[in-house]
Amino acid sequence: MRRATPFAPAPGSPRLLLRERRERTELWTEAAGPPPAVYGERWSTVDGRPVRAFEPARSKLAAGLARGWEAPLPAPGERWLYLGAASGTTASHLADLLGPEGRLYAVEKSVRPFARLLALAERWPNLLPVLADARSPEAYAGPVPLVDGVYADIAQPDQVEIVLANARLLLADGGAVVVALKTSTMGRERGAPEHLRRAEEALSAELRLERSVRLDPQFRSHYLVGGRMARTAGPGGAPPGAPRRAPGRRPHPRAR
Ligand code: SAM
Repeated sequence: MRRATPFAPAPGSPRLLLRERRERTELWTEAAGPPPAVYGERWSTVDGRPVRAFEPARSKLAAGLARGWEAPLPAPGERWLYLGAASGTTASHLADLLGPEGRLYAVEKSVRPFARLLALAERWPNLLPVLADARSPEAYAGPVPLVDGVYADIAQPDQVEIVLANARLLLADGGAVVVALKTSTMGRERGAPEHLRRAEEALSAELRLERSVRLDPQFRSHYLVGGRMARTAGPGGAPPGAPRRAPGRRPHPRAR
């Protein structure tokens, strides 16, 4: 039997660790909180630092990475907004990638998973739960600052519009957007590829999209879609008629 190779940091996201084992690449994240496991995931240590298995069967982001997702990932020290955090399975791994200096603003509208998210935040100090409806980003635009990235997994028919409304208000210029697109909630009159095409068309009006990745079989009719918000043009700022954010919001310092 071939032995496992050592853990190696992923390019651009050093707290994401890759390990070749049994003919496949395992994904792990460096934990930003202490044990025990958040949802039954395996733990180990690398040079004395705790790491957690990031399973493609449990998380759409991990499934996308296992299928070659190459779009932007959270990097240490960044601030990200998570729409649809539920009880924190994937959110805990995003918080791991952001590290202790980063912040994950985790929006969830259902009270029951939110209660578990609150309990998780007691152990993951860089994860900040927000009980809110992601359809109304102006409701949390006060406490949530401009962010470097938006991750969305809300499984709603209007998920693309919700993501864009949040990005326009809260995403810094050049920031990243990653959407776990659930096409089965977008109507039965079209198939998954057509829903994907329409979502890409809507998103590409404001983002430079990367190649989307299909998440079957782990997540049926899901895709990971995303890219970076196109920078506003030239010294004059936003193009005419296309305000990027609410008046009075300051540009993110790192995005200037
Ligand atoms: N992202 C989670 C994970 O990987 O661990 C799973 C998310 S689950 C598929 C979708 C979540 O989005 C649910 O918890 C649901 O309550 C939440 N949600 C749906 N619509 C929402 C909205 N408008 N605002 C905030 N949360 C919403």
